[in-house]
Amino acid sequence: MSKKIAVLPGDGIGVEIVVQAVKVLDCLKSDFALNIEMEEGLVGGAAYDDSKNPLPEATLQLAKESDAVLLGAVGGYKWESLDIAVRPEKGLLGLRSELELFANLRPAILYPQLAHASTLKEEVVSGLDIMIVRELTGGIYFGQPRGIRTLDNNEKQGFNTLVYKESEIERIAHVAFETAMKRDKRLCSVDKANVLECTELWREVIQRVAKEYKEVELSHMYVDNAAMQLVRAPKQFDVMVTTNMFGDILSDCAAMLTGSIGMLPSASMDKNQKGMYEPIHGSAPDISGQDLANPLATILSVAMMLRYSLAEESLAIKIEDAVESVLNQGLRTPDICTDADTKVGTEAMGDAVVSALRA
Ligand code: NAD
Repeated sequence: MSKKIAVLPGDGIGVEIVVQAVKVLDCLKSDFALNIEMEEGLVGGAAYDDSKNPLPEATLQLAKESDAVLLGAVGGYKWESLDIAVRPEKGLLGLRSELELFANLRPAILYPQLAHASTLKEEVVSGLDIMIVRELTGGIYFGQPRGIRTLDNNEKQGFNTLVYKESEIERIAHVAFETAMKRDKRLCSVDKANVLECTELWREVIQRVAKEYKEVELSHMYVDNAAMQLVRAPKQFDVMVTTNMFGDILSDCAAMLTGSIGMLPSASMDKNQKGMYEPIHGSAPDISGQDLANPLATILSVAMMLRYSLAEESLAIKIEDAVESVLNQGLRTPDICTDADTKVGTEAMGDAVVSALRA
C-alpha cells in the first residue's frame, strides 16, 4: 500500500529546499519503486497570509492522516510584528504538539570532506558523530502560565514556566537509551540540576530508567559545561539527551561543528514511529529567494524519514551515499564552499544529488 507524505514547505528558503527534497523523492518513486504519494499544505507565514492562521485545520488534518511529514522552515521578517499567538513559529509548535512528536533526533555528523569548513580545528571535529535527543513537546516552550504582565508599579514582567512530568521524562529517556543501544552505548544526560528543581527531577527519572539499560554507560552534565565541552572536545559524546530548550540551543551549537547548519537533518517522532522531518535551520530570510540555500539538510531529512517512518533503510543509505558523492565531486553551496571547491546553487545541488542517485 502506498504511504502518504505531507509536504509543508513553509516560508523563506523552506520553499526552495523542499523542492530539492521532493525531486529526490520523485526520483526514488520513478527509479527505485518507492511507493508513496505526496500532498502539499500551507504552514507558517504562508498559511497566515492565506487564512490568518499559521496552522490551518486542513494542514493539521493532512499531517494527521499522513505517514510522515516533510517540513521546510517557517518564519521571516514579514511576520515578526504579529501577535505571538499567530506568528509562523506557532504553526510549527502546533504541529509538534498536535502530532505528539515528543522525541527530536538531531544527528551531528561531520562529513570528512567538510572538515575544513568547520570553525573548529580539524583534529577536534574530524570523525564527529553525535546524536542529540531533544524532548520536544514539554518544558519551558509549552509550560503554563506564560505571558507578559504589568506589575502594580506599572513595570512589565515576562514569565514562562519550566515543567516536566515524570512520564514525559521517562518516554524521552527510553528513546535516548534505545538510541544509545544501537550506537556506542554511551549516553550523556544534560540538565541544570544544581539550580532548577525541574531538572533535578529530570536527573532522578533518567537514573531510574537507566536501570533497564545496564549496558549503556550513563553520565550527567550541567548544560553550561555541555556547551563548553561541545566546542572543546565534542568527540567525547555519543548520544546526548536533554530538555526542549537546552536541546534547541545545544543542537545549533553542534551544527556549527559540522561546518554549516545547512547540513543537519532532524526527525521528530511520536510513540508509533510517525515523524516530521525537517532541517534544523530556520527560514534564513537573509538568503531566501537567491538560490543560495544548502538543501542537503532537507535531503538528509528525507533519508531519516525513509529510515524511521517508512522502513526503507536501503533507500535511506542510497540518499546518504548520494550526498557523499556530490561532496566528493567538490560541489558546495556557498555556506560550505572554500576556494578549492565548485560553488553551486540550491537547484544545482538538488540536481546533483538526483544524478548521483541515478549513477
Ligand atoms: P536560521 O537558521 O534561519 O538562519 C541562521 C543563519 O544560518 C543565517 O545566516 C542563514 O542564512 C544561515 N542558514 C540557515 N539555513 C541555511 C541553509 N540551508 N543554507 C545556508 N545557510 C543557511 O535562523 P534565524 O536567522 O535565527 O531565524 C530566521 C527565521 O527562521 C526566524 O523567523 C525564526 O523564527 C525561524 N526559525 C524557524 C525554524 C524552523 O522552522 N524549524 C528554526 C529556527 C528558526
